[in-house]
Amino acid sequence: MTRGTPAQGKKGRGSSHIICRRCGSHSLRKKSGECSHCGFGSSAKITNHAWTKKYVNNKRKTEKNKKKERAKKNKK
Ligand SMILES: [Zn+2]
Repeated sequence: MTRGTPAQGKKGRGSSHIICRRCGSHSLRKKSGECSHCGFGSSAKITNHAWTKKYVNNKRKTEKNKKKERAKKNKK
């Protein structure tokens, strides 16, 4: 089977990934039990790369920056 229109019929067969209990993203693979987002199941350390973070207004959107933004919002 090709990857085109006929292959789209296979899409409704259930999920291959479930919600990861360490990072909360929908990236924990059912079969292998490894998370592609944080590395849960394959590494003890949480996988972290600079290129996974998104730049918003020339600022890197990290967990630290998110916490700062939340604190600012709560003050207002
Ligand atoms: Zn994860």
